[in-house]
Amino acid sequence: MVDLNFSYSTDQKKVLSLLNEKQKVCLMAAPSFVVDFDYLSFVPLMKGLGFDRITELTFGAKIVNEHYHKYIKENKGKKGYEKFISSVCPTSVEMVKNRHPELKKFLLPFDSPVISMAKILHKEYPKHKIVFLAPCSAKKIEAKNGRLISAALTFREMKGIIEKEKPKKSGRSHLFDRFYNDYTKIYPLSGGLGKTLHSKDILKEGETVSRDGCADLLKLFETHSDKIFYDILFCKGGCIGGNGVASKLPLFLRKKKVLDYKKFADREKIPEKMVGLNRYTKGLSFETAF
Ligand code: SF4
Repeated sequence: MVDLNFSYSTDQKKVLSLLNEKQKVCLMAAPSFVVDFDYLSFVPLMKGLGFDRITELTFGAKIVNEHYHKYIKENKGKKGYEKFISSVCPTSVEMVKNRHPELKKFLLPFDSPVISMAKILHKEYPKHKIVFLAPCSAKKIEAKNGRLISAALTFREMKGIIEKEKPKKSGRSHLFDRFYNDYTKIYPLSGGLGKTLHSKDILKEGETVSRDGCADLLKLFETHSDKIFYDILFCKGGCIGGNGVASKLPLFLRKKKVLDYKKFADREKIPEKMVGLNRYTKGLSFETAF
């Protein structure tokens, strides 16, 4: 039994209560989790803590990419569609809305990977509560505002729970449950979206710009850039630099962890039933407005 009197944050208490209540709980982890957790022991450790299902956001990222690709293909060149600005990072979205409201109309009108994946998980596991493991406080707020997610923790908060609870690893497999996508594992890196958009047929060379870090984003939009597709992340280095990341490693070593994980995932033999299939998204809408 977990000691909830320990000095846990409200969100940590909420997650532990869900697990204590013997609810079936599904964890969805942002792919930058590898910066703070060992990918081979992550799933057994989370199962040991009491999560029933452990999933990764990469499948949600793939769905976002598919929607972006289709939307750009259908609208590029039309009046009123001169730019397409990614909307996967909630802080970047707020920055565009507040600092450059004239650009708001160019934000891609689709859910972020977090909300997309929550919709998919809710459809697949309707009786489970969903907990999101996030690299930053902005994504926690985004998750909590979405009515499908019961609670959210940063990586640092989850590490705090593990340190205190010391869960034993459970289960033999390090593989996530069901949803799988390997190429979007680089999504949390600066430029990861642009590299995984498969955009050769919709964007010419030089039409995409990838930027990270508040100062660089402001500079980009203040120069009235003539680029078409804007792949933007608010934190320096991308989500590996989020304020909920515990690691003190320099950014290049955090980036290496993500790339090593991607390489590892490329080599893995994934059972056919786990490969990302679009049947999971049937009947769901991922459109939104800003
Ligand atoms: S770039 Fe930073 S603020 Fe944006 S989603 Fe990633 S961690 Fe959060």
